[in-house]
This record gives sequence, structure tokens and C-alpha cells, in this order.
Amino acid sequence: MKILVTNDDGIASPGLHALAEALRALGEVWIVAPDRERNAVGHALTLHKPIRITRVDRRVFSINGTPTDCVNLALKRLVRGSPALVVSGINRGLNLGDDVTYSGTVSAALEGTIMGVPSIAVSQEGHHKFRFKVAADYARRIASTVLRYGLPEETLLNVNVPDRPRASIAGVRITSLSRRRFDAPIIEKVDPHGRKYYWIAGTRVTWDRRKDSDHEAVRRGMVSITPVHLDTTHYAAMEKLRAWEPMIAKRKASFASSRLLRPSRKTR
Ligand code: MN
Repeated sequence: MKILVTNDDGIASPGLHALAEALRALGEVWIVAPDRERNAVGHALTLHKPIRITRVDRRVFSINGTPTDCVNLALKRLVRGSPALVVSGINRGLNLGDDVTYSGTVSAALEGTIMGVPSIAVSQEGHHKFRFKVAADYARRIASTVLRYGLPEETLLNVNVPDRPRASIAGVRITSLSRRRFDAPIIEKVDPHGRKYYWIAGTRVTWDRRKDSDHEAVRRGMVSITPVHLDTTHYAAMEKLRAWEPMIAKRKASFASSRLLRPSRKTR
């Protein structure tokens, strides 16, 4: 059985190799990862420049592209016969809540899911030092469970592991995505030529949607597993917005009726 391992921290990241090592207990591991850090690239796909593959070792390849490129090339070109599983990580730092929309780590799992392979993203809490062995151990357990029971259709698992020694992990929780916001998110500075420039940074503040959120679980020292669905359609909103169809279709929409097109709080 083949398992594809990738990440967004790059081929040199110790988290990638800790993950690969742990998964070798379950099958034939193939590593296809970006040649350098590609954090926060989201689900970007390289379409307008050539992509090169470098063979690093047996079943280990680096690519001058994004995590999504890696999964694409791995599944379509490098790994003969479809892998049974795609595992992305172990990321340096958590990917909670809204982070999943920016995360290269999660996007690699999204790409695996789109291509019909059960996929898992794994991230480890930490700042300078990371307990990759703890996350790798949980990644192996989760991967083995997925291989045995499969995943719901079009669903990936987003796993976050708290920064604790193995013995102090408080448990495992199935969670929902939290809502994360930044406080003062833009830092303005002036360069030596007197021109302003900006850093997108700032302090994180969190507003959780629910008690069973991923943020809450990690805060309590538990391993968080969030099932993330590929289909982000808001079905309830579809029903409500159907009332807009005739208004938008009308050839001469009056200025007065355009007022009605603003989304109400409920439909957002
Ligand atoms: Mn990363």
C-alpha cells in the first residue's frame, strides 16, 4: 500500500520526515514536497511557469512548486498506482479555523480529496521547538484508522496537535472549525526612502463559533480532528437566495430594487 507524504514547509522540514518515518509502519511511503517553504500559499496551482522535479532519494522528490502542485504531480506522474492515502505535514504551527483557507498544508489534503484519495493534514503547535514525534504518533494512529474505515465522501481530516509531551495529551476530540481574527492586523512602517510599507501580522484573538471547536480542544490539551467538507455550498442560503433570481435576471433592474440585493445578516 502506497502513502503520499507532502507539506508546505519544504523538503528539508524535520516535520515532514518525522511524519514519513511514522507512516512507514503502514505502507510504502512516497515523499513529494516543495523545494522550499511555501507557507500560506493556500490552494495555489502553478500554471504559468515550468515545474521541475528533483529526485532526492528513493521515493523522495522535491518540486519547485506549491503543495497543490506536489500532490498533482505525485498522483498523476510520480507514484505509480494511486496511493491509498495522502498525508500533509507535520506543519510547524497550528492550522485552526479560518487558517484552513490560507494553509498550504491543508490545501495539499484538499487536492488529494479532489483527486479522490483519502487525505489528512497534520499540524503541530509550537514556536521554535516542535514535538514532531508526538504529532507523528497521532498521525500514524489516525492514518491507520482512515485506512481501515475510510472517510466520508469529499471529506478531509484537519488534525492539530497541542504542544505537550505524549503523556500529557488530554485526549482526542472531533471538532468544528473555530473563527479566528487578528487584532490590529496591519503594521505600517516607513522604509529608508520615506515610503510606507506594511506587514500583515498582529496579535491573534479568537472568537469561537462553538464549544466543540478545534481551538477549544487544543487549548484543553487535546488532539483536534476536524472533518472538512470539500463542498462549501451553503444549502440553506441557496433556498433563500432563489428569491433573488428574478430580480437579477430582470433586464432593467431599478435602483430601488438593487437595495434588496444586499445580503441580510441571516443569509451570511
Ligand atoms: Mn507551513
